Amino acid sequence: MQERDYYEVLNVPRNADEEQIKKAYRKLAMQYHPDRNPGDKTAEENFKEAASAYEVLKNQEKRGLYDKFGHEGLKNTGFGGFGNSGDIFSSFDDIFEDFFGFGGRPRARNAAKPGADLRYDLTISFMDAAFGMETEISIPMHETCHVCAGSGAKPGTNPLICPHCGGKGKIINSQGFFSVSTTCPRCRGAGTIVTEHCRECGGKGKIKRVRTVSLKIPPGVDNGSRLRLQGEGERGENNGAPGDLYVIIEVEPHEFFQRKNDDVFCQIPISFSQAALGAKIDIPTLKESEKLIIPKGTQGGHSFRLKGKGIPRLQGYGRGDHLVRIIVETPTKLTNKQEKLFRELAESEQETTSFFKKEKRKFMKR
Ligand SMILES: [Zn+2]
Ligand SMILES: [Zn+2]
Repeated sequence: MQERDYYEVLNVPRNADEEQIKKAYRKLAMQYHPDRNPGDKTAEENFKEAASAYEVLKNQEKRGLYDKFGHEGLKNTGFGGFGNSGDIFSSFDDIFEDFFGFGGRPRARNAAKPGADLRYDLTISFMDAAFGMETEISIPMHETCHVCAGSGAKPGTNPLICPHCGGKGKIINSQGFFSVSTTCPRCRGAGTIVTEHCRECGGKGKIKRVRTVSLKIPPGVDNGSRLRLQGEGERGENNGAPGDLYVIIEVEPHEFFQRKNDDVFCQIPISFSQAALGAKIDIPTLKESEKLIIPKGTQGGHSFRLKGKGIPRLQGYGRGDHLVRIIVETPTKLTNKQEKLFRELAESEQETTSFFKKEKRKFMKR
């Protein structure tokens, strides 16, 4: 058979971009889809021809060869067009999956179906997030009924072929020009009807079960950290692979520590005299208490950094830092003696406080 020009087949200009090519192919694939044209040989040929054109034009390398050398140029690429519709469905899964109301691939009834992924939200304490923990979680999930092996039929009984769709699981409705296939409402696509329900699962073919999964939380997880447990999701059907379990971490706030990434923050109140004269104070950190030397003349709001006393790094080695922010507390209740001392201090300050000196000068200028 004389091969037609691929651009002509898809009815796109020679400089069409990927999106145009995809769109043109979708249109043709819909039009000539075997589900819509049962037994129509011409439609089948058109369907294959469009797929071959798309296979070449969507691929830059093949398209380049085709542009230069035509069909001849593709001979050494191992590409020989499509023999049957099944190959087409498996090559362009993404295209057929999008078809609205149109199963792309005619669905095999016992095809393996992968299990669904599951999500589990877990709240843990600040300290457990910092240093990791081991725990067990209970995951409610659906599993194939062990009594009826998922058929939903009472063991020993045979399901009937669905009389509504003749066992196909779908029915084709003609709506003017279009024919649209929909899932059979009677058997819900199964093609068979259960006459006597399995007692264990009530005919659903699945039973709810709670599965216990042990979980090791690594040190350093934070709010929103996501742990993936491969294969711990819902079981697959017909030997399909199981889904994954995603554990999403939420960390409870701590009454004393705050956290930003791997660093820990806390606020420590000190007195006026400690700030002015300097002091050595105990700072609580995540693991133990640390001595911190407050130098003479420390200002309120100043932060000190204790290196490597923060949160262990989830990715990488070592720990973040612990930052101590100093709050200088103003005394609210003074003894007589203290008040006397403060007054004396105040008098001497008139002369020495740098702020006053500077500001005084500024005021004088005006
Ligand atoms: Zn059952
Ligand atoms: Zn049916």
